[in-house]
Amino acid sequence: MAAFDVTGRSVIVTGGSRGIGKGIAGVFAAAGANVLVVGRDADAAAACAAELDAGAQGTVSAFAADVATSAGCAAIAAAAQERHGGVDVLCANAGIFPDGLLADLPEAEIDRVLATNVKGTMLAVQACLPALTASGRGRVVITSSITGPITGFPGWTHYGASKAAQLGFMRTAAIELAPRGITVNAVLPGNIVTEGLAELGPEYEAQMAASIPMRRLGEVADIGHAALFFASDQARYVTGQTLVVDGGQVLPESMAAMEGL
Ligand code: NAP
Repeated sequence: MAAFDVTGRSVIVTGGSRGIGKGIAGVFAAAGANVLVVGRDADAAAACAAELDAGAQGTVSAFAADVATSAGCAAIAAAAQERHGGVDVLCANAGIFPDGLLADLPEAEIDRVLATNVKGTMLAVQACLPALTASGRGRVVITSSITGPITGFPGWTHYGASKAAQLGFMRTAAIELAPRGITVNAVLPGNIVTEGLAELGPEYEAQMAASIPMRRLGEVADIGHAALFFASDQARYVTGQTLVVDGGQVLPESMAAMEGL
């Protein structure tokens, strides 16, 4: 068996229309999977699917839905069932990261971040449960973050809370779903070059690179390969675990640990 072969598997990537999700979708499509990329913007999802589908070993198609609603998540699961005959892998990746200091954070903004990042993850998994169970080797791969579970960053209290909450969800879901043969794991990206991160500006990117032992930001495919490992047959006995993919960013005790390198 070739390493990490997912030929013919049905894979959903929420937030697959750009950024990290697009990277995950590209890696799975190259490994032979049939991928459904999901975003709220139908045109963006369709453009992404057309780009990834060309030349991929598997197939890539688009679906527009909002993961923050149970109706949206039910529609995503139904589309995968209809197009690919089921769901083998759910990459719960859709997420938002608007910034705002706690002192001024509107309640509506807290609700929006938790609804997308936490509730959206839970609802997507819930909606795909029958199909993941029927698969016999169901896989859930959550895109969390180093921010929240490991580190803090002013402006992202709500975001950090949401990313840590995903791991709390993961640990109990992993136990509940183990008897169904479903594994639930999470990738914790550091700073990855994406359209969303680019919106934070070049200064942010330069500051981040300086604090990373590898001195550069990660690429979306780096997260895709970690997700592919969790989804593989080789990872069948791994559940409830995290994999940090950050170029060593969480390691230095202080900036002094980076001096002279
Ligand atoms: P991004 O470039 O802004 O892309 C976000 C994706 O999620 C888009 O496809 C977006 O499409 C989709 N999305 C957002 N809200 C949605 C909703 N309610 N329903 C369905 N789709 C939705 O973000 P990214 O940087 O790739 O981040 C992806 C994930 O990685 C997030 O969970 C984020 O927390 C995590 N992460 C990112 C980094 C980083 O450095 N970039 C680091 C750590 C963790 P629409 O807008 O069309 O819906």
